Amino acid sequence: MNQGAVYLGRIYTPQAGGGWLELSRGALAVDRRGHIDDIGPAGELLSRCRGRTVVDFGEQLIVPGLVDCHQHLCHFDWYRLIADAMVWLKTIYELESRFNEPEYAWSTARRFFDALRRNGTTTVCVHGPYFAEALDIAFEEARSSGLRVIMGLNAGDRDLPAPLCRPAAESVADSVALHERWDGAEGGRLGYCFTVRPPYCSSPDLLAGMADAARLAGARVQSHLAEDYNGQRMILDLFPGSGSDSEVFDGHGVLGDRTIMAHAIYLQPGDLELLAARQISVAHCPRANLLAGGQQANVMALRSSGIKTGLGTDLGGGKGMSMFKLMEDALKVSPEFSVHDLMRMATLDGAVVLGLESDVGSLEIAKAADFIVTRPPLLEGSDEVDIDTLLANLIFCGGPEVVRHVVVNGVSVGEGAAREGVIGRPR
Ligand SMILES: [Zn+2]
Repeated sequence: MNQGAVYLGRIYTPQAGGGWLELSRGALAVDRRGHIDDIGPAGELLSRCRGRTVVDFGEQLIVPGLVDCHQHLCHFDWYRLIADAMVWLKTIYELESRFNEPEYAWSTARRFFDALRRNGTTTVCVHGPYFAEALDIAFEEARSSGLRVIMGLNAGDRDLPAPLCRPAAESVADSVALHERWDGAEGGRLGYCFTVRPPYCSSPDLLAGMADAARLAGARVQSHLAEDYNGQRMILDLFPGSGSDSEVFDGHGVLGDRTIMAHAIYLQPGDLELLAARQISVAHCPRANLLAGGQQANVMALRSSGIKTGLGTDLGGGKGMSMFKLMEDALKVSPEFSVHDLMRMATLDGAVVLGLESDVGSLEIAKAADFIVTRPPLLEGSDEVDIDTLLANLIFCGGPEVVRHVVVNGVSVGEGAAREGVIGRPR
């Protein structure tokens, strides 16, 4: 009978109670349900876990699977750089509209999830296509990918071209049906998130309708918050009497403890306190922000206000979807971060943002075995590398070429599974 497996290698993980664990020759025991049931020094653990298949990754570094809190499936094929976000927005509509062609929807979703896997992302929260059929297709591909995917039908009902502009009631009804169909599917590996465009593209009816539906379902809801200065001005014109888009979202019931907002750059006085009181989460997107003019969220203020903050790539194909490049950019805009802070933000903090911290984000007993095996370039030819140096090397040189093996819920996903591991006999 399958007794599970033991993975050997150098292991690094943040820990839920604070701090991090490093095992220079470590072992991770995974039971047959795909959960971690032991972790420790290899010698000790192997004697406790007899009868299991042993997979030895040698000196390679095993870390938790990366958690990307903000992605856009529809932007995967988009390559142009435009610093003005409002101009940028108008150029993307044509590509977003292509998702009413099933063939394009299938092919893009397949390539999108494959690229995430190759970059070591095991959990992702996605703003999905604008059409229910395309979202079903995307979830089917998410199912096949083996990754942990949270996603929602994107909805907007003003200042948008056809076919993206849809009546609020229709988008809400589609979202409710899609939530029923996909939330919790594949043993909880797939999840649904009600998704709405910012208030310059969403009417009061749509904002309130999505918020109510999400609350009734006990589900997540996501949007973009304070991403752009001109966008903020448009929102204040459309909602006279409001002081910020945070207030507009709050006035329509969108802000709550299952709300995930991307960016949070142009916050107004009082917004931090409001967001903290509502217990929302923020996806900090430093790489996208750098490429869109450079204004950044005050991530230190968000964190010190107690607002849960993870990282989001917010990028499609041309600009990459690497969480390693994202960590490097997070460091560029917040030099006070250590490599341990960055690794935590890209794993456990992201899991907290998505409400998945009891399942994923760190390598600890009772969590799902979601991990990646990496080979940072410094491992070639160096004798001893301390963990801070090795993590810096992983972050600065990371990409698909250093991600050698991806495991979600104890299952190897993607091509080349176990290509670097030496599989021994059950002991
Ligand atoms: Zn975005």
